Amino acid sequence: MNKESYVDQMKQWTEDLLKQQETFIDLCDQREHDKLAAWKERVEKFRDSLNDIEDIEGEQLKKMAEDLYLEGEQVYTGISFTQPFNELDLGEVQFAERQMAVPIGQHKLPPLPYPYNALEPHIDQKTMRLHHDKHHRSYVEGLNKAEKALQQARLVNDYQLIKHWERELAFHGAGHYLHTIFWEIMCPEGGGKPSGELLQEINDAFGSFAQFQKQFSEAAKAVEGSGWAILVWAPRAHRLEILQAEKHQNLSQWDVIPLLVLDVWEHAYYLKHQNNRAGYVEAWWNVVCWKQVTKRFNEAKKLKWKPY
Ligand code: MN
Repeated sequence: MNKESYVDQMKQWTEDLLKQQETFIDLCDQREHDKLAAWKERVEKFRDSLNDIEDIEGEQLKKMAEDLYLEGEQVYTGISFTQPFNELDLGEVQFAERQMAVPIGQHKLPPLPYPYNALEPHIDQKTMRLHHDKHHRSYVEGLNKAEKALQQARLVNDYQLIKHWERELAFHGAGHYLHTIFWEIMCPEGGGKPSGELLQEINDAFGSFAQFQKQFSEAAKAVEGSGWAILVWAPRAHRLEILQAEKHQNLSQWDVIPLLVLDVWEHAYYLKHQNNRAGYVEAWWNVVCWKQVTKRFNEAKKLKWKPY
C-alpha cells in the first residue's frame, strides 16, 4: 500500500475511533471518563498530525497508530461498561490494523485470545504458557530471521544459502501461521459440533460428524513424529478434506486453506498427558471453537477454482 492511501485509511480509522469513543463515554462510569478523555485527546492529536506527514516515514506512522491502538485496548479493558463489552462493535477499530501488510522480518507473536488457564482442565495453564510464549515465539523469531536473511540475499545477490533459508522460512513460517490458527480455533466454551453449512459439508465429505471426528482423531494420533492434523477446504475439489502434516511444513497438498488444526507436537501436551497423545486428542475436542472455525470456513469457501 502506498503512503497516501495508507494515510487516508488512517484518517478514516481515527474518525471512526473518535465516533466510537463518544459512544463509550456515554456508556462508562463517571470515574472512567478522565482515562477515556485523555486517550481521546491523543487520538485527536494523531489525526491532526496526519495532515502534516511530509517528514514521517511509513514505518513511524504505523508504529504511532499501533501504540495508539494498544493503548486504546488497555483503556477499554479497564473500563466498566454499563453494557457488556463484547456487545460493542470493535470491528472498525481493528480494520486498519488488519489491512496492513507485515513488513519483512517484522512478524509478531499474537496475544492469546483468552487467559492462559482458560482451557483448563483440558489443556493446562503451564502448557499454554510454554507453548505460546516460548515455542510460538521462537517460530516468529525464526521466520523474521529467515525473511531478513533472504532480503539480504536479494540485496547482495548471493544465494549460496538459499536452501537453508527457504527451509527455515517454510519451517518457522508454517509454525507461526499454524499456531496462530491453533489459538483461534480453541476457546473455553468449545466442544460440541458445528451447525449449518459447515456441518452439511462435513456430512457430505465424511458421511457424518462422528465419522469426520473419528478420521480426524485417527489421523492426529497417527502423525509420524511431530506434526499436525488439519481439516482443509479444497477450493479445487469444492469439498473438505483431512490431512496430516509432518513437522509443520511437509504438507503434501498445497493450494488449501487450514480451517481446523490440531498441534500434536509433544510440547503441546507432554506436561499434562506425558506420552499419551490419544488422551490429549480426546480432551482437545472439548475446546474446539466451532464459531471461529465457521468464521474461517465462511471466508475460505469463497475461494473456488475451476474444478478438475
Ligand atoms: Mn506447537
